[in-house]
Amino acid sequence: MKITDVRAIQPIGKDSPSDWRTTLGQILVAIDTDAGLTGYGVGGGGLSGIHVVKTVLRDLLIGRNPEKIPQLWNEMYQATLAFGRKGIAVMAISGVDLALWDLSGKSQKLPIVSLMGGNPGEKIPTYHTVWDFQDLSSVAEHAGFKLHLGKVAAPDQQEIMISAIEQARSLIGTGRLLMVDAWMKWNVDSTIAISKEIATFNIEWIEEPLSPDDLSGYETLKEESAVPIAGGEHEFTAAAFRPLIQQKLHSVLQPDVCWCGGLTELIKIYKMATAAELRVCPHRGAEIWALHAIAALDPNPLAETGRPWMTWVEGQPSIENGMIELSDQPGFGLTFDEHKLKLIH
Ligand SMILES: [Mg+2]
Repeated sequence: MKITDVRAIQPIGKDSPSDWRTTLGQILVAIDTDAGLTGYGVGGGGLSGIHVVKTVLRDLLIGRNPEKIPQLWNEMYQATLAFGRKGIAVMAISGVDLALWDLSGKSQKLPIVSLMGGNPGEKIPTYHTVWDFQDLSSVAEHAGFKLHLGKVAAPDQQEIMISAIEQARSLIGTGRLLMVDAWMKWNVDSTIAISKEIATFNIEWIEEPLSPDDLSGYETLKEESAVPIAGGEHEFTAAAFRPLIQQKLHSVLQPDVCWCGGLTELIKIYKMATAAELRVCPHRGAEIWALHAIAALDPNPLAETGRPWMTWVEGQPSIENGMIELSDQPGFGLTFDEHKLKLIH
């Protein structure tokens, strides 16, 4: 089997937010082959990511055997090294990598979960992310909830945050998980102070309190935070996760498979984290791209709800009574009607 074309487009779903998540957001990568199979993956980077695919990655891939995924990944990483390593270039590689995996599953007539030694059909619990604690009352079937505090994260808003977390715990009761997400807007001192205030509310983790580059800050939090720290949503490649894991800077690692380099890198991160006895909980794990890895590799599976505006992905399993499960369809099990997709230009 040989690759005959690599295409990338940016479909826009209803209610896609008017910020970088749309302008530099999800791209669909399609890889065509001479076997008549097309593999699909979702990466990131918007039109900039598409430019990386079309000007660098496409030429590298045409005529190649798509089943040589580790070799192709290394060549794509090398070809983008001068301007890549993190961010948009790796987001683009992620979409290509996932499309290669999709092709691999389709050519073997197996779901991706089976390629990793797992089985479809397992029911996986989910947690739901909300931006306002008042939204919690309508989603009571989930195993847990994450309160996103990115809008009220200033130092003088600590009281508002702590009060919101307390009200969230009282709304969902004691039987469900509760997490909080600071979206890189706190600092070491405020994280320690807030953690001491909220530890009494039985918080599963504080997510991304600091910049991903502030490793020394995370080193301090490892010792002094009263609540476990999660992170990695905005980190790229398994190589960059290695120090996070070796130094145990995060208790919970949250790679985003559509950004971090694709499934090839997510598998490496799972292996490193498992060996270090750390938990992996992929960002947006209920989206199909990470769900296969969760089902196959995760001893403590928990899937975060996905982007509601990704409505153009047909075949994404829905959440029923707080649980989600994979079908036995080959590849990632998705279909795309490319003619129907609304594109950004
Ligand atoms: Mg987050």
